[in-house]
Amino acid sequence: MIYKSDIEFFRNHFNLYKRYMISNARVEYTPLEYRAHENQCTWYIDNSTIVQAIDEASPPEIPSVFTFTPFRRFYQHIDDTSDIDTLGIVAQVHPRNHRGPTPTREIVIIDNSFMPVILTLWGEHETDEGQTIANIIQSMPLIVALRVKVSSYHTLNLSTKFGSSILVNPPIQQGASLKQWAVENKSQITELIAQKAYCDRAKLLPQPSEDELCTITDFLKFPTKKAYWIQGTPRFLDRSQHLWYNACSNCHKSFRAKPLWKIVCTSCNKQVNVVPRCRLTIELADYSGMLTLDLYDNDAEQLLPFTLLEIQELEDKHQLNYIAIEQAIENTILTCFVKKMMGNRGSGDTEKYTAIIVHKANAAEIISKIPTTPASIATSSTCASSTPGPSTAEAVPKHSTFDSELFTALKITESPTKRQRTDVTDMEQ
Ligand SMILES: [Zn+2]
Repeated sequence: MIYKSDIEFFRNHFNLYKRYMISNARVEYTPLEYRAHENQCTWYIDNSTIVQAIDEASPPEIPSVFTFTPFRRFYQHIDDTSDIDTLGIVAQVHPRNHRGPTPTREIVIIDNSFMPVILTLWGEHETDEGQTIANIIQSMPLIVALRVKVSSYHTLNLSTKFGSSILVNPPIQQGASLKQWAVENKSQITELIAQKAYCDRAKLLPQPSEDELCTITDFLKFPTKKAYWIQGTPRFLDRSQHLWYNACSNCHKSFRAKPLWKIVCTSCNKQVNVVPRCRLTIELADYSGMLTLDLYDNDAEQLLPFTLLEIQELEDKHQLNYIAIEQAIENTILTCFVKKMMGNRGSGDTEKYTAIIVHKANAAEIISKIPTTPASIATSSTCASSTPGPSTAEAVPKHSTFDSELFTALKITESPTKRQRTDVTDMEQ
């Protein structure tokens, strides 16, 4: 630990990735409030400590002390309190921006999953490492991002925070193979950047595999803010709902303003047009339960039989056909990545559920693909009826166009492992 003026004192002594011999540092018990475990000690280096650089041409590589989150697992940390360490190749840097007085910069990083993701650098992470990276971007530098957070901003975004670290071209063991991968796949990486694949929501949060899904009832029970994949059939909720509102075209902050008004957004500081944004509230049900869910933008518009412009015109004439909307919505099966938010309406402690992304499937198409031999129906019925617990069958919403057998057939159902877990819990009770 180095404090105050000693930080400046040592600024020119220490070089990144070099090794030093440190003698006679002070060792003290860590103050209670900063202690992670009992009898924890801290080394304090001040300007009387002897610091000598080890004379070696190339210091040894940093051993594998970090656990890096693969890009395909970023989604598991969206908007929760955890932070992640990751290793990637910088494929592109965007120009410096400002959020208030704070400089920011977006850089696009990629790993061998071919999924480019934006990492937003804030403050000193931009003026120091951000500028360094921009200067050497042609060489596709390798970076290690430590303690960065994952958010649902523009679907999936990484960003630095206080306490994050960005290491540029660190001599790290796991780096060599990734560097090699980048060299071998340069043309494909360039193409992904040209296509702006880092903005492609369906690539950032693709349709999950079945074992990544959780039931609605389980999702509702989880105490954490973490987002989960759920799957179910939607129902249009409340014909009095307004299907759009005016918002910043960049960050989606809502404004009481006329559409196409040019403003500097008070939230993201960008010069933007106020644009109408689609918002749809549905009820989503699976065999286990249901919840009320808000969908936005394309996630909502893909369910509606009209464009936003048509909706606005029809609303003005009081001719919006809600039956057509209901039918269009109810003929689908949705796979949604959903997060919990605290509602700010009413009593204050109500939870709201918002879809970060929605993958739509056509119910009729899926049903037509299900083998309808009596044997398969019989099997799925047996499964459904053998599910333990008295509440399961009753939890299926009565108004739903799908019955529990169909839910099972459509695999909007629990996996065998989860069923087993329920068994154990039931027996314990
Ligand atoms: Zn904005």
